[in-house]
Amino acid sequence: MSKLPGRYPGMSGQALGTLKRHGARAIATSLNRAGHRTRAGRPWSHASVITVLRNRVYLGEISYRGQHHPAPHPPLVDPATFQAAQRLLEERGEDRRTRAANASEYLLAGKILCDHCGLHYVGNAVNGNRYRYRYYTCFSLQRYGKQACPSERLPADQLDETILAALLDTFARTDLAEQATRAIRSQAADARDRAEGELAAVRTEIDQTEAAIERYLGAFEAGTLPEAQCGKRVQALGAKIAELQARELELQQALAASAVEALPTPADLAELASQIRQVVEHAPVAAKKTLAQQLVHEIHVTSRADIRPIFRVPTRNEPPPAGGEGL
Ligand SMILES: [Zn+2]
Repeated sequence: MSKLPGRYPGMSGQALGTLKRHGARAIATSLNRAGHRTRAGRPWSHASVITVLRNRVYLGEISYRGQHHPAPHPPLVDPATFQAAQRLLEERGEDRRTRAANASEYLLAGKILCDHCGLHYVGNAVNGNRYRYRYYTCFSLQRYGKQACPSERLPADQLDETILAALLDTFARTDLAEQATRAIRSQAADARDRAEGELAAVRTEIDQTEAAIERYLGAFEAGTLPEAQCGKRVQALGAKIAELQARELELQQALAASAVEALPTPADLAELASQIRQVVEHAPVAAKKTLAQQLVHEIHVTSRADIRPIFRVPTRNEPPPAGGEGL
């Protein structure tokens, strides 16, 4: 922490009054009129006023990895004034940055399914007197009302928190994920055995059919099979070979795709659990959203009391949730 950015334009009760009545633009105008400039020496703008009003450095804090910590400098504004300024910005809906960020702050966007109507829940917000309440609401309910779907809207902060906590708990139980990958491994091995068995049978049949064609052609050349008859049979056998070859290709592709090597090892799972903890406990909202989008398969909702998340174990080919080293 080196220099402090400029002065805090919301420090006086008068400035707060201006903010309440006329907004950040009016503060910028009055600062400019009084001859003040930003730290970069430019005139104040609506956006630069908001940036300063939002800056927790003035509270005597520094921000590090999305967490606020006490800084080795004294606060330049008392917390009550700072909070009053934040509240006014919210009430006036002035902070475009926050508003834009809010759209992406629905961590579980696209993941929640309504068990009543089968549609997805969407994020939406209701502005109260002081706060903004975020919800997830079934699309049918939101669009067409109670007669279209009897679902309930879900408080988003609470659901986000609950699901992240469940994610943390579930992946901390590395034995569960190991159990799941063991089951996948053995299913994959069974499927592989079956596909390999069928592939061998298909190849034998292709060989036999080719041998049959050879025999007909040999008989035709030896003059023991009339041309018309030979042509018909060879054509039918040729069609059969084409079918068998198509199936051979399908099986080869299925075997290549069922690469069991992509499943995470127990060491990967332990690493994943610690990355999840890091993100859930310390990372900013955007990283939490990336995490939720990657590891939540879907969430089935019947009511507030009946919410069933399904998590997924990432393969080794996917990027890790916390960035950095791969799984
Ligand atoms: Zn619904």
